Amino acid sequence: MSFRGFIQQLAEAGKLMEVHEPVSPKLEVPAMAKKAGQPILFHNVNGTKAVMNLLNSRDALAMVLDTPPQDIISRLINVGNGSTTIVDNSPTKEVISKPDLSKLPIMTHFDKDGAPYITAGVLVSEFEGVMNASVHRLMVLSKTELIARLVAPRHTYLLHKKASEQGKPLPIAIAIGIDPITLFATCTRVPPGEEFNYASALKGVPVELFRCENGVHVPHAEIVLEGYIHPTRRAPEGPFVDITGTYDLVRTEPVIELTRMMHRRDFIYHGILPAGGEHKLLMGVPYEPKIYEAVSKVAKVKNVILPEGGCCYLHALVQIEKQKEEDGKNAILAALSAHHSLKHVMVVDDDINIFDPNDVEYAMATRVRGDRDIMMLPHVRGSSLDPCNAPDGTTTKMGIDATKPLGEEKFERATNRFEKA
Ligand code: MN
Repeated sequence: MSFRGFIQQLAEAGKLMEVHEPVSPKLEVPAMAKKAGQPILFHNVNGTKAVMNLLNSRDALAMVLDTPPQDIISRLINVGNGSTTIVDNSPTKEVISKPDLSKLPIMTHFDKDGAPYITAGVLVSEFEGVMNASVHRLMVLSKTELIARLVAPRHTYLLHKKASEQGKPLPIAIAIGIDPITLFATCTRVPPGEEFNYASALKGVPVELFRCENGVHVPHAEIVLEGYIHPTRRAPEGPFVDITGTYDLVRTEPVIELTRMMHRRDFIYHGILPAGGEHKLLMGVPYEPKIYEAVSKVAKVKNVILPEGGCCYLHALVQIEKQKEEDGKNAILAALSAHHSLKHVMVVDDDINIFDPNDVEYAMATRVRGDRDIMMLPHVRGSSLDPCNAPDGTTTKMGIDATKPLGEEKFERATNRFEKA
């Protein structure tokens, strides 16, 4: 499914809001997208088109993965191998020009933001035969320069470090508006160089890549920005709102110098709303299969989600079919070890609907006794995005075993055999 094919599919399903009046990328478009809470296409943002909230819900992700929402994990786990194919032509090359970021409807999302930010840019880098593709927030520094937040020790950070140690710029290309499965794949932590192969496996057909002037290979996109991450130049990056909806720290980060830009003639710019549903899902869902696999080694796991209330990042809900009394606590430890940014894990029985926050709270209310069921792990490293961390970056992790004790009838939930009929 292509980027435009997905937008078309959302429109046909009656799930796309459309705004035809002229609107500003400075605060207005993000505010409207936040209020809409569903896929929204703006036809005139400073004369160009922009879309937000594309992969805004589990239903939307399930639609692109062609699976029911509750089966997303098994769809992601049972994926085979895939490989890409190199092509010469791309609709992305319809217009090729010198870089000029002022031509794009790059949004300023919140009042205190440091600058407009590209938020749906897949940054592809290549150095000494190793490729990486991942989404980075990209702050506009000038019409031809961006500042990239590179988190240590992730792949782009490592490639830039390697290049800069040799005094070399790191060739990069930023693809904006790519097909949703490939976007999802670039948000998944796969072994170095495997993002587009993983995308091909998920899609069931090879992802087509074409070569940029600087040698980097990118998928078809609405817009591609080509350039280099400077080996030594850095500038203050931020303030920027991340998944928790709070401002992240301002840090000094590497500068990207753009050399070329290409785009579809009538391009549709893709923006991801910081702390919005799309941002959270793309950050969190890729971890769900990893947690599922880790828990499956210690308990009979049924499902795992990183719920939206926990920013799809700091909280996990693990549903198990309990067989031994220790299953709940073992599942907590396995989940925490599979996703290091997790802070709180709650384990529930398989009669609890983990997609329903009220049902999860019901489990907490009727099956948890604090002294017995809460597990604390103080002074461990937390997510850099958690505003609650101690000054040294540590936090207290907590597990809640909300499973009922085995064999105690008083915990059985009343049923009515006609309910399921
Ligand atoms: Mn990578």
